Amino acid sequence: MSVKVSKKKIRIGERADGSAYVLSILEYKGSAGPSVFIGAGVHGDELTGIASIWRLIDYLKGKEVLGTITIIPSMNPDGLNYNIRGMPEAGVDLNRLYPGKSTGYIAERITAKIWEIARKHDVIVDLHTIGRGIPFVLLDPVSGDLKRRNDELAEATGITVLDEFESEDYAQQNLGSSLGGVASTHGIASLTIELGGSKDIDWGTVEAGYLAVRNVLVHLGAVKGTLTPVKSSVVIHEKGYRREDVWSEKGGLLEYVVELGQKVKAGQVIAKVRSPFGEVVEEIRMPEDGYMVALNSYENAYTGGAIATIAIKVRK
Ligand SMILES: [Zn+2]
Repeated sequence: MSVKVSKKKIRIGERADGSAYVLSILEYKGSAGPSVFIGAGVHGDELTGIASIWRLIDYLKGKEVLGTITIIPSMNPDGLNYNIRGMPEAGVDLNRLYPGKSTGYIAERITAKIWEIARKHDVIVDLHTIGRGIPFVLLDPVSGDLKRRNDELAEATGITVLDEFESEDYAQQNLGSSLGGVASTHGIASLTIELGGSKDIDWGTVEAGYLAVRNVLVHLGAVKGTLTPVKSSVVIHEKGYRREDVWSEKGGLLEYVVELGQKVKAGQVIAKVRSPFGEVVEEIRMPEDGYMVALNSYENAYTGGAIATIAIKVRK
């Protein structure tokens, strides 16, 4: 058994002060086998997946690897430094900028380099966080053999599996230019994994993120082992659901009256919007039968603000 573990720094360019802008990469190369790319932190304030990767690195210590595992724990280093979603000088969303442009602006060069590396793999796993939520896999809209492969990988993770938004919202949010989106158009299997947390490490979902990725590696045969059920977080086992957002009409402070992972009937109140005086100015109701997946982390709402992510049935 021989596994070559190497750490690399790839220079993307320079900052205004002349310091080097680099991406740090960890690579495991063993005998023949599948190749898996694992990235986190493309949204610089999404930290939980990075901690899941620490556990994965511990797990891989001294372990035989079949194939290649490439890990970029911080795909947006400046975003991490400032704990912001984008980049300080640009305000861009790197995960709407794929496949990037190698001669473009620094943000485009970052995504171009990540895509250049990631696309050489059989499977791409991208770790994100949704705020106060249960961990889940988001599946991009694909069909045929790619759909079958993505579905199998998602099932192997052991966490909740949801389809993406309906096509109109998917397009409006430019998700085709996310890493999972561009992987899908190139026929590469990919999973976007959402964990809990927002500007913090949600220790309650770190384990689920770690096990989900580890289970993918086991399922593919990149490491030997058995699939491990996820017990540390709520898992919705019912299939055929997609993600949807719920908005408030009124501004105010939110009082949720449901729990994460709870099954909720259409019409049931999920949150009350209260004025600063405590008056209930709106009761937000579940639009159709489904599950509570994530709650707005900050309990505040403007008109039209997304207050929750729910899972509802995919329309046939
Ligand atoms: Zn994200």
